[in-house]
Amino acid sequence: MKIIDILKQDKLSLSFEVFPPKQETSFENVKAATESIASLKPSFMSVTYGAGGGVSQYTIDIAKNLKSKFNIPMLAHLTCVSSTQERVAKQIQQMKSEGITNVMALRGDRVEGCNDDTPYKHAIDLIRQLKNSEYDFCIGAACYPEIHPESGSQKEDLFHLKEKVDAGADFLTTQMFFDNNLFFNFLYKLREVGVVCPVIPGIMPITNGNQVAKAIKLSGSFMPQRFKSLVDKFGTDPEAMLKAGIIYASDQIIDLYANGITNIHVYSMNKPEVAKGIQENLKTILGKSF
Ligand code: FAD
Repeated sequence: MKIIDILKQDKLSLSFEVFPPKQETSFENVKAATESIASLKPSFMSVTYGAGGGVSQYTIDIAKNLKSKFNIPMLAHLTCVSSTQERVAKQIQQMKSEGITNVMALRGDRVEGCNDDTPYKHAIDLIRQLKNSEYDFCIGAACYPEIHPESGSQKEDLFHLKEKVDAGADFLTTQMFFDNNLFFNFLYKLREVGVVCPVIPGIMPITNGNQVAKAIKLSGSFMPQRFKSLVDKFGTDPEAMLKAGIIYASDQIIDLYANGITNIHVYSMNKPEVAKGIQENLKTILGKSF
């Protein structure tokens, strides 16, 4: 099933993101964790693509396994930075032959020493290749309510986002944010520049005190005082932080839903207990609409 068709339905969609193993030895553990998340029957699941593409095969392996065992629509991430056209074409072909019809088309982070002699300068180059392929993929792309760290201005960022959508992205998923007002403002600006496709807010439950610094460094996200206080108070108590993080993320989702946002993506990070905690909170509160 195409994810765009799920997003256009007039009811809450809740999707979970998982990441592939970094090496063969952890494959079985990751497989078990992702299966446990899939057993919650989310609207769809996404599988990230290892930075630099080194362990690319596992993205497809995990997506294929979940799709065949749980019949859940799968979204496979694909990055293009440092890659070659032949390599990307091979991956596109492989996704198609495994029945994966939804692709999150990303540039990926440029790491030090990465190969710049590549046709892929930006995600749009991959989007164009997907559109020009013989396959009818549903294409997602990334967006940044607090602007991408490389962007000079929000105006510039919005301009390139519109280009990605015009080139063929069917929907956008946001970087994590901890203050919903940032998302609402961003959505307003996107609509103002003529981006009308579905925009899925990406919610990251912070359930571990040690996760905070890394998540903020990676995303550059603003941390509201309310969130900082929660981490200060519970960050060193794993059980309390797990519960508090699930409640904070659930609260963000409920506020989004109350304000008309019906598609929610959760960065569940291979943690079944987090995905389950959020789903249970939503079931209780959103009742019939879920
Ligand atoms: P782009 O769309 O290329 O944008 C990057 C920067 O270039 C922005 O500043 C943009 O404004 C600018 N830009 C875009 N187009 C042009 C243009 N034509 N000319 C000039 N400037 C331009 N990383 C992974 O490695 N694996 C993953 O699985 C993964 N999943 C992600 C999922 C989501 C929802 C998000 C938000 C991010 C994800 N990332 C992932 C991180 C992502 O790869 C990085 O944020 C990366 O730095 C940018 O990728 P992009 O696709 O947004 O790039």
